[in-house]
Amino acid sequence: MYAFEYTRAGTVAEAASKIGGGKFLAGGQSLVGAMKLRLAQPGNLVDLAGVKELVGICMDGNDVVVGAMTRHADVAGNADVQRACPALAELAGGIGDRQVRAMGTIGGSLANSDPAACYPAAVLGLGATVVTHKRRIAADDFFKGMYETALEEGELITSVRFPSVMKAAYIKFVNPASRFALVGVFVAQTAGGVRVAVTGAAGCVFRVKDLEAALSKSFTADAAKAVKLSADGLSGDLHATPEYRAHLIPVLTARAVEAASKR
Ligand SMILES: Cc1cc2nc3c(=O)[nH]c(=O)nc-3n(C[C@H](O)[C@H](O)[C@H](O)COP(=O)(O)OP(=O)(O)OC[C@H]3O[C@@H](n4cnc5c(N)ncnc54)[C@H](O)[C@@H]3O)c2cc1C
Repeated sequence: MYAFEYTRAGTVAEAASKIGGGKFLAGGQSLVGAMKLRLAQPGNLVDLAGVKELVGICMDGNDVVVGAMTRHADVAGNADVQRACPALAELAGGIGDRQVRAMGTIGGSLANSDPAACYPAAVLGLGATVVTHKRRIAADDFFKGMYETALEEGELITSVRFPSVMKAAYIKFVNPASRFALVGVFVAQTAGGVRVAVTGAAGCVFRVKDLEAALSKSFTADAAKAVKLSADGLSGDLHATPEYRAHLIPVLTARAVEAASKR
């Protein structure tokens, strides 16, 4: 580690005013590890753990609104989330291990935009809105690349707003070493149509228009399996080739359609 300033904020306004060119600290599940490895060297940390207005889950009409500092375990166990969008509760309950779920937050996960993270798939798949202390950002405009989002320097995510959904499911092909997604697919039937969001397979989460078109015509596992995807632009690493990931996407989509159809 190295020297840095540390501030514990009590309100959103205080956090935003103290951040300067520094970084917000949520559960530290990504940031502290990155600091230890010197992949991140912020001169100023603003701890959000004491900002009560960022914590909690409520219904606003049919929307589920999740505060940015809400831990994964609390999303997984929340009755409103389980009722309104069981796929989101299950996704949160499948993140990492018990310790990560007790500390990791939805705001930290989205701001981090890890290419293999689970929450970005739900946010993009459900067409959610990321709310910051300055504005609202549609999921389709939020994820820009590997560890890159539409957030400006010092912009604080305050909550995430999930619209109501008819059917949805998330299927993750787990990387056994990290518990992150080797590939994860979130499928949702929404008022605006079918959405398919894929994580783990490229620099950041993305939608697959060919699968969305096929499932709009026929929301069946067979329709998903019939789609063949190119491996161009997909990630290749020691865990899986781009071709393997291209093969997994329709397979996992088919499983997600089956799971969503049983709800
Ligand atoms: C062993 C392990 C396994 C994991 N497995 C999974 C998995 O299976 N699936 C998965 O999705 N994730 C997984 N994670 C990641 C985990 O879900 C965390 O949520 C994620 O690492 C972010 O951590 P955090 O919420 O503690 O944020 P931090 O680490 O505190 O912050 C992460 C980044 O977000 C910024 N930030 C935090 N909060 C805000 C905010 N409100 N507004 C703006 N910027 C903010 C910080 O400045 C920092 O840049 C795993 C992590 C570990 C350590």
